[in-house]
Amino acid sequence: MITVLRLGHRPARDKRVTTHVALTARVFGADAVLVSTRDPGLERTVRGVVRRFGGSFRIETGVPWRGLLRDWKGPRVHLTMYGLPIDDVLPRIPRDDLLIVVGAEKVPRDVYDLVDFNVAVGNQPHSEVAALAVFLDRLLGGRSLQAEPTARIRIRPNPHGKSVENVSH
Ligand code: SAM
Repeated sequence: MITVLRLGHRPARDKRVTTHVALTARVFGADAVLVSTRDPGLERTVRGVVRRFGGSFRIETGVPWRGLLRDWKGPRVHLTMYGLPIDDVLPRIPRDDLLIVVGAEKVPRDVYDLVDFNVAVGNQPHSEVAALAVFLDRLLGGRSLQAEPTARIRIRPNPHGKSVENVSH
């Protein structure tokens, strides 16, 4: 079980990026995303994708994140450019009930102490979406991209255009 915790979401400014965090989490093998700020529109968007493309990915917003982070039973990873290099830390991270934290703007200082691992995907600033994709892909060895959930629509790989198939179950 892999859960992503998205901190610092501002509904007016971050809807698109947080949607991308959620969709990236889903496709790269996470089971759920928890978002610190309540945002029903974001929940609708992500649940709509899950309905059409399948799987059981969950989204919850308005999550009291400090208590959650403090009480989390499994390993907690914070993705940050200030952390230790991913290739060094990855072998030491247990896989059971993993919580992965990503920020938006400046992440509160105590997050760095509340987690078990601060992990850098390179020590340069880039994006929570990129950091999450690379981390999950390395963690799961690329396996998640090979899994195709039961879906109402299915994309057929096409070298030149778009092939979308409606699937009846
Ligand atoms: N300046 C902010 C700070 O000090 O926390 C970071 C803002 S960055 C646009 C948003 C998020 O992307 C970060 O909170 C972190 O989760 C992720 N991120 C950005 N660069 C990263 C890197 N090199 N390695 C891991 N995560 C990174």
